[in-house]
Amino acid sequence: MSAGRPLGLTSTIPVEIVLAGGWTPVDLNNRFINDSDPAGLVQRAEDLGLPPTLCAWIKGIYAWCLAHPEVTAVVGVTRGDCSNTHALMELLSRAGRRVIPFDFPHGRNLADLCEQMARLAAALGADLDRAQQVQRELLPLRQDLERLDELTWREGRVSGWENHLWLVGASDFEGDPVAFHTRLQQFLVRAQGRPAARPRVRLGLLGVPPIISGLHQALAEMGAEVVFNEVPRQFAMLPPEPALDLAGQYARYTYPYDVFGRLADVQAQIERRALQGLLHYTQSFCWRQMQDLILRKELDLPMLTLEGDRVGPVDGRTRLRLEAFVEVLA
Ligand code: SF4
Repeated sequence: MSAGRPLGLTSTIPVEIVLAGGWTPVDLNNRFINDSDPAGLVQRAEDLGLPPTLCAWIKGIYAWCLAHPEVTAVVGVTRGDCSNTHALMELLSRAGRRVIPFDFPHGRNLADLCEQMARLAAALGADLDRAQQVQRELLPLRQDLERLDELTWREGRVSGWENHLWLVGASDFEGDPVAFHTRLQQFLVRAQGRPAARPRVRLGLLGVPPIISGLHQALAEMGAEVVFNEVPRQFAMLPPEPALDLAGQYARYTYPYDVFGRLADVQAQIERRALQGLLHYTQSFCWRQMQDLILRKELDLPMLTLEGDRVGPVDGRTRLRLEAFVEVLA
């Protein structure tokens, strides 16, 4: 798992294949949002002609890629993530990047998923047996991520924001799984020594990672803690019992498939984590906003839907809505 050529990823894919091919995974979402000026990147994409009525994540990723020519190749998830990725890949191709598509198959078809993984491995010069071995090597790291998650929902020693950061970081391990694991272990030692927090309200946060900043922290100030970060937890591929092989792991992953798998996962976590309410974050101009309708109808827990467009802090109106929601639940 040594560092190699950077490979941009538009979404979580079988990162074990990327590592087996000797590449360094670069989650473009994380790089965009952690850039020193993410709002400036979105503006740059609009200055280049992308419309205001397009998801800001796509614009940010595009502008980040243009600013980082060292990322010469990008894997785009062209089925199962974002309908905008098709055109994003065309733009990046025109900008001279090598683009490699990856499709999560409809209906979680295992044979089709294996075929996609084989295609990806061939494109990246990776050996699938080696990728399977990488999956086993990553197991202790994923078990420690599960421990981190437990320290959030079971023990109250890791905040919802810290939980979010570590779990989204696991989509590419910040480029280096070994260094990431070392930092995680050091963090766990510190966190285990903290006093346990007892929030007034226990919340689940559903949907794509929010583009607005300070959401978890604003809730914590109101006495509410996010003890379930739905999609980041999926990105982190916490190890199941019994263990699955590589294809099984990515067939169990709920995010790229239909909403019903997500519903089953959320329903189980509502009980397991004793959630009192749900926030559903939706991104402006995102097709996933439509799924809000199903989540509202099917989940039997109070739910507040938030919509974010631009990069920036929680605005006053959203803060008021959150306060009212938390007070009702408390
Ligand atoms: S938030 Fe929605 S529209 Fe934006 S990149 Fe993600 S899936 Fe695509």
